[in-house]
Amino acid sequence: MSNDRPRVKLQPGGDKRAMLGHPWIFSNELAMDAAAKALPPGEIVTLIRPDGRPLGAAFFNPHSLIAARLLTRDADRAIDESFLHKRLQRALKLRERLVGAPFYRLVHAEADGIPGCVIDRFGDVIVVEPNAAGADRLVEMLTGALDRLLKPRAIVISGDGTARSLEGLAPVQRVVKGALDGAIELQEHGTRFLADLAEGQKTGWFYDQRDNRLLASRFAKDADVLDLYSYSGGFGVQAARHGAKSVLSVDRSEPALSLARRAAALNEVGDTLTTESAEAFDFLEQAGVAHRTFDLVLADPPAFVKSKKDFHQGGRAYRKLARLCAARVRTGGFLFLASCSHHMPAEEFRTQVARGLHEAGRSGRILHATGAAPDHPVHPMLPESAYLKALLLQVD
Ligand code: SAH
Repeated sequence: MSNDRPRVKLQPGGDKRAMLGHPWIFSNELAMDAAAKALPPGEIVTLIRPDGRPLGAAFFNPHSLIAARLLTRDADRAIDESFLHKRLQRALKLRERLVGAPFYRLVHAEADGIPGCVIDRFGDVIVVEPNAAGADRLVEMLTGALDRLLKPRAIVISGDGTARSLEGLAPVQRVVKGALDGAIELQEHGTRFLADLAEGQKTGWFYDQRDNRLLASRFAKDADVLDLYSYSGGFGVQAARHGAKSVLSVDRSEPALSLARRAAALNEVGDTLTTESAEAFDFLEQAGVAHRTFDLVLADPPAFVKSKKDFHQGGRAYRKLARLCAARVRTGGFLFLASCSHHMPAEEFRTQVARGLHEAGRSGRILHATGAAPDHPVHPMLPESAYLKALLLQVD
């Protein structure tokens, strides 16, 4: 071995999962001696197997449960700008094939070989979300590599999620190249949208639902559509452009709704889409009292299960949402429900939705069970990173 990186040794047996292809080493699988503990979070180390052979190069964080994230099994590979360039290039080539128009998740962390790092592309503006200490430390190198590959007009570093806090990282929001001037335009399946990258949520746009928005819009022709948790109109504007009679977008964020209205106008469906600023459950209760119904009801809420301990409570919330939404669907109409909770397995989500439907006194059938669009690929050893589940049902 010819590199001079710090070395961290695995416990006897601690390399078992890694040798089966898993990209993470947990803290209890490492020999956490004083030298390892003293390493700065995010240091790149060479991992050493119990028998003394090198395992590979990894991001290391002594303060995180996920103590090491493998970058490469070639222990001598330099982790420099050219390494990142190659990973970015591979990710770019895949997206150009999968999506085409330059609006997509360019890098989806482990699945794209850049652990703990998410990168979204909005044409010539790039948003980097470093969610692991290693990715955070490499941000400058990453922006250098992005600059070389894409020559973007602006690069934003953004992140305030729980993932960052688990890694001991503070929220971050800064423009490291160029400047942002207002909302930025993007396209999905030929429909125009607006994202506010400076003020928005997450990276400003939820590309994971791109294909589900198109799928749902197939049920929108001549329909009265309710889009709950609408954010900036991802589902609603797509539905309006696919011939909906009316779309009502409901969200508690007025800035998000304002972008939805502007996007509707951009697509010349401004007369079809109206918005209402409200708490979703309050809206549903009131719509129930008023006997308001729709041909297509869409609900894409924030994660109801934020950690394992919320599992039961979150499950009940999905059931209640399914019950209240199903009650608002006209006979023969359609219902789309999504869950972006990491800690809510697909089967459990389906069970809760089925129970909610039944509790509403309705029956129906699942037409589509889907997940995130393929520009959010999944590392084969990290099935739990497939966080997004969605069901599209017809309701009797
Ligand atoms: N469907 C959207 C993404 C939804 S993200 C899309 O296609 O892009 C979740 C949204 O729910 C956010 O816009 C947030 O403002 C909104 N939200 C969160 N809690 C809410 C609540 N209790 N009532 C209404 N909206 C809520």
